[in-house]
Amino acid sequence: MESFKRFGSSILDLIYPPVCMHCSGVTGAADVLCAKCWMKMRPITHPLCPVLGLPFEYFLGKGAISAEAIANPPIFDRARSALVHNEVARTLISRLKFGDREEMATFCARMMVFAGSELFGDNADPLVKKDRPVLVPVPLHPGRQWQRRYNQSTLLARAIARQAGLKIEPLLVRRVKPTRPQIGLSARQREKNVNGAFAVVPQLLEKLQGKRVVIVDDVITTGSTVNAISAELKKNGVERIDVISFSRVVIGIDDEEI
Ligand SMILES: [Zn+2]
Repeated sequence: MESFKRFGSSILDLIYPPVCMHCSGVTGAADVLCAKCWMKMRPITHPLCPVLGLPFEYFLGKGAISAEAIANPPIFDRARSALVHNEVARTLISRLKFGDREEMATFCARMMVFAGSELFGDNADPLVKKDRPVLVPVPLHPGRQWQRRYNQSTLLARAIARQAGLKIEPLLVRRVKPTRPQIGLSARQREKNVNGAFAVVPQLLEKLQGKRVVIVDDVITTGSTVNAISAELKKNGVERIDVISFSRVVIGIDDEEI
């Protein structure tokens, strides 16, 4: 029976061989990228801006922050992203939104846990363990969540929580104002669009007991959404707020289409 099943699955592999998550080229295993697409991913690694997490071309000296962080200081403390938002990152996120949700969330979260290691702390160190943050996904408006039935940021936050041993508070921040999609809006329009769009649920805020918050998002474009959420959290007494996203738009790198 067992060998029959194996025979059956290898026949299935011949009929439907596993394909690359980006280009649909044939691969050796399911839920992976082919070598060519893997090479197209642009992980954001050091040196980077310690505030915005933007990649630096070269090391600018200890504590040096980006021109963007100086010109527009964010309300959150630190942001980190796993990848530069390019064609491959965009495909992976759309698969997360519209396709193989669980597998994609696990795949993306693995990179986010690595990119956000400075924000998440380490379970092994008891001192650090006490200071571990709570993950808060960027909420969708209830209407949109109903249409789509799930929230991709919550999927990512749950996968990160599982992998890094962190707690998640998915209902702490609510979207109280429907906003138009941010695509095609200028930085200022984006800021206006999300202004007053979020509210904190006071009963859940109490449960935080002064813990740090890490906001989880799929893509950061100008940062206006995570900034609006940070403003609301700060207003309600949350002192330390960081942000982790799967990808982020980096002007000048692969930003042909946002
Ligand atoms: Zn490929």
